[in-house]
Amino acid sequence: MDHNQLNDIFVRQLTLSGVHEGETVSVLSRGDERADYADAFLFAAQELGANTFHLRLPSARGGSGAWAVGDSGLGTNPVAVEALKQTDMLIDLTFLLFSKEQFAIQDAGTRILTVVEPAPLLARLMPTPELRERVEIGAELLSKASSMRITSPQGTNVTYKLGLYPTLSEYGYTDTPGRWDHWPAAFVFTGGTDDGVDGTIVLSPGDVLLPFNTYVQTPVKLTIEKGFVTDIRGGLDADLLSSYIKSFDDPRGYGMSHVGWGLDERAHWHGLTQFPGGMGMELRSFYGNVMFSIGPNNELGGPNDTPCHFDIPMRGCSLFLDDEPIVAGGELVVPEMRPAGRR
Ligand code: FE
Repeated sequence: MDHNQLNDIFVRQLTLSGVHEGETVSVLSRGDERADYADAFLFAAQELGANTFHLRLPSARGGSGAWAVGDSGLGTNPVAVEALKQTDMLIDLTFLLFSKEQFAIQDAGTRILTVVEPAPLLARLMPTPELRERVEIGAELLSKASSMRITSPQGTNVTYKLGLYPTLSEYGYTDTPGRWDHWPAAFVFTGGTDDGVDGTIVLSPGDVLLPFNTYVQTPVKLTIEKGFVTDIRGGLDADLLSSYIKSFDDPRGYGMSHVGWGLDERAHWHGLTQFPGGMGMELRSFYGNVMFSIGPNNELGGPNDTPCHFDIPMRGCSLFLDDEPIVAGGELVVPEMRPAGRR
């Protein structure tokens, strides 16, 4: 994507995010990553009359691993953190999520937007107020529920006790002080109580393993007891999943984390075939997917901050809140959560 196009979509993004005259927008990057995004965000913020600056951190020592969640590069840099806290909006080009510093910056009232996906995907999944509204309707329903059950024809039957953790929404922009979002995104999630997830999840061919960025090829049967995965059975995919979690040598890597569903009809389930190296936001967002997660729940305010983390969007599942159907076989049941053409 050329400079002009990038400038154009970033102006549209910051307009949605409510950037205006008198605000200060900071842009955070690391090493030589996403220098083009940094330039375009500086342009866009200035275009909208805001003050803006770019804070560039050195690259991670020894290079950054895939998904080294929690290591922000800001941990030993309190002066930089203080500067970012002073701004109204932070554009995070580094993936700060799960770091203590991200939470501290949000607590100071700074809204944060993470932008790390490929530019063509950002353009195609440009957020809209209409999509935000549908996501927020989902979040409202989820926040009132006290239990969630997920089933699938392949044998998934798992129940989450809800109520302890907040419900979060992601719709790809943020105009609310202290709120974080990630572009692109369109999904809602919460977490089960720490010992309140029990049952079986059967992953089917085509379900997605993030951060492997692969599609499951052979069924994987996960047994879940009191909030932890206690058994993983199946073929090669089960072995890879087990081996990866085991390598962290951390029992909290088996903890059940966030759970919810996706709403963006423009997001493709086959997205990994187009952007195999991205973060998988398209896969988290595709319409009617049910996504569960294993690993840290500190994002929701929980105690688990293990660096071992899976997000697993699944196709064709049904999801019930307090026994009311919300997703049925991969289709959203509630008309207000469907796009206008599908009501
Ligand atoms: Fe996750």
